[in-house]
Amino acid sequence: MSAPATPPSSNPDLDAMLARVLGKDTADAAAPTRDPVADEPPAAEPVDPAEQRCGYVAIVGKPNVGKSTLLNALVGQKVSITSRKAQTTRHRITGMRTVGPTQFVFVDTPGFQTRHGNALNRALNKTVLGAVNDVDLILFVVEAGHFNLADAKVLSLLPANVPVMLVANKFDLVHRRGDLAPWLRSMQERHPFAEFVPMSAKAPKDIQRLFSICEKYLPQQPWMHDPDDLTDRSERFMASEMVREKLFRLTGDELPYTSTVIIDKFEEEGTLKRIAATIVVEREGHKGMVIGEKGEKLKRIGTEARQELEKLWDCKVFLELWVKVRSGWADDDARVRSFGYE
Ligand code: GDP
Ligand code: MG
Repeated sequence: MSAPATPPSSNPDLDAMLARVLGKDTADAAAPTRDPVADEPPAAEPVDPAEQRCGYVAIVGKPNVGKSTLLNALVGQKVSITSRKAQTTRHRITGMRTVGPTQFVFVDTPGFQTRHGNALNRALNKTVLGAVNDVDLILFVVEAGHFNLADAKVLSLLPANVPVMLVANKFDLVHRRGDLAPWLRSMQERHPFAEFVPMSAKAPKDIQRLFSICEKYLPQQPWMHDPDDLTDRSERFMASEMVREKLFRLTGDELPYTSTVIIDKFEEEGTLKRIAATIVVEREGHKGMVIGEKGEKLKRIGTEARQELEKLWDCKVFLELWVKVRSGWADDDARVRSFGYE
């Protein structure tokens, strides 16, 4: 964008925006926080359908800016996996949350893949583009004070007819709030953002504030989902995501992101769920990384995934894990489809 730099004192709109977003109501952003995922979502009150609002909100941004963390905090429960490793979110994951008269339906998206052109990444990009065209509001997430080529690339792909809110996440890592003013000014010149929200996805107060800022962008129409629902994803899917998260967490950067998890069996016996899953890796060498010495690593992946699933569903879980090598599947269109990435 080529708009000339504006001296701070000559643009009242811009000064008002800076005063608003850097003003008093963001003071809590850097405060020590509780785990937002652990906070019980308040029960929805009955609301007259004539007063209900309901709409789709897409969360976009390059990998690692905090999209999954934000989605989980907004939904109040873990529906999207997070990890330090980029590209762990492959599916279009929706979570939902009803706050007062407004039902927010969230769409999480994988980061835009710019470096690899293989079939898996082409499928990922299609998911992202499909997700943002039919939404009411886009939350464009960046790290506060940072904007590089990867951010610019995501921004350039957003549709012009949907309001975009700039979420300057990880605000807790910015030590002096005033330092953000010139950056916010430069961001204002990049895109006609509907709002500027410096915040921390890990601060419950910021999450509450974000709900109230987003509300007016959602159309007035009856809710589409039960107000108590938090996700439309199946338990099967949640199980595979949970195993995948533990897999990435416990293998660190050694394991390529092309490994995946398939649920072979999902059975319920009273209050017990019996699950068998296969971790599919690309090379024989990766198999050893996942299994670990004397099966230690695989055992830990299974134990941690099982414990989280038991907490999530409040029932007993029996989880059996297998590891298989499926060489080169990330480069083969047919195989990518057969694993469910469309
Ligand atoms: P995604 O790839 O955009 O979905 O990013 P994730 O949600 O997986 O987050 C990437 C990393 O950033 C994780 O280690 C998060 O804990 C961390 N993170 C997310 N939000 C914040 C935040 O507001 N402040 C800080 N300090 N870290 C954050
Ligand atoms: Mg993610």
